[in-house]
Amino acid sequence: MKEIKGTKVFDAGEVEEGAKILQKGGLVSFPTETVYGLGANALDQRAVKGIFKAKGRPNDNPLIVHINDKEDIKPLIKGDLPSIGERLIDEFWPGPLTLVLPKGEGIPDVTTGGLDTIALRMPDHSIALDLIAKSGLPIAAPSANLSGRPSPTLCSHVVEDLSGRVDAIIDGGETGFGLESTVLDLSREVPILLRPGGITYEELRAVIGEVEVDPVVIGKQEKDSNKALSPGMKYRHYAPKAQAILVEGEKDKVIDKIIELLGDKEGKFGVMASQQSVKNYPDGVVVKSMGSRYNLSEVGSNIFKILREFDQLDVDKIFIEGISDQGLGLAIMNRLRKATGYKIIEV
Ligand code: AMP
Ligand code: MG
Repeated sequence: MKEIKGTKVFDAGEVEEGAKILQKGGLVSFPTETVYGLGANALDQRAVKGIFKAKGRPNDNPLIVHINDKEDIKPLIKGDLPSIGERLIDEFWPGPLTLVLPKGEGIPDVTTGGLDTIALRMPDHSIALDLIAKSGLPIAAPSANLSGRPSPTLCSHVVEDLSGRVDAIIDGGETGFGLESTVLDLSREVPILLRPGGITYEELRAVIGEVEVDPVVIGKQEKDSNKALSPGMKYRHYAPKAQAILVEGEKDKVIDKIIELLGDKEGKFGVMASQQSVKNYPDGVVVKSMGSRYNLSEVGSNIFKILREFDQLDVDKIFIEGISDQGLGLAIMNRLRKATGYKIIEV
């Protein structure tokens, strides 16, 4: 165990210590297969308030409650799990799929941002599952970043944002998929995709047939905040310090456009490029590879890390190559569009 600004940093062998802190109402950050989460006892109003305070998170932005056993769903929801819920859980849990269901009694309003629904997920990560099991509690956990910053995929990202603000962080190395879970609302007539993530729209369709998509998922502009079904989607997210601009369109045109934009302006510039196009950009520009355009899980796992790396480099502007919206591309493009504050150029 190390200690940084009063925050304990545990390794994977010290999960028990983290569980004890959670039982006492403390805040513990832990790795999952998506990003690092910041956990507290979901049933303890005071502990959950601590999450909002530590992150600077708006209090109408509800938290996802993490469990390690399907049996734990029952007391958290109202009524029975619908049969499509059963099918989705059999297929995708543990994994990056969050299900929104009518909320059971006794769940504090702070946990669900005042909504009458609750978001549930079983993470696919041994440390996360072990921590939940050892605590014996449902664990409310949003991403472990300061509100508005890119989600953390490394322990060092959590230390950067939250040391001195939380009780402990469990270091489990780099997370897997690197983008937050898919959020699917099952509390309505037709299931509706509220946030794209590691389980794709296409995969959901294959299991349950009809799935609606909230326009905010594919949106290319700021959503009318009063109408957001998933409150978290209305807030500025993932923002790097530099201004970021996303260029979308056919691959060669995207590259040409970014080269043109780089020539136009003065300052220190960065480009987030696919591995295949890194070499296209002129000297003097900081070019970072997001990974192969043919390996979207690689791209997904890299983008938050790269956005943070650019913050260390003091670039004035970052130009980002858009990719296809298909499969995992939908989640990647959703995060990139939000990271740029919807500063998008279509070519
Ligand atoms: P984070 O864990 O930081 O990725 O944020 C959790 C996300 O889940 C946010 O986008 C929330 O808006 C969404 N979410 C959590 N609970 C609900 C709910 N009951 N209904 C709709 N969206 C939810
Ligand atoms: Mg988040």
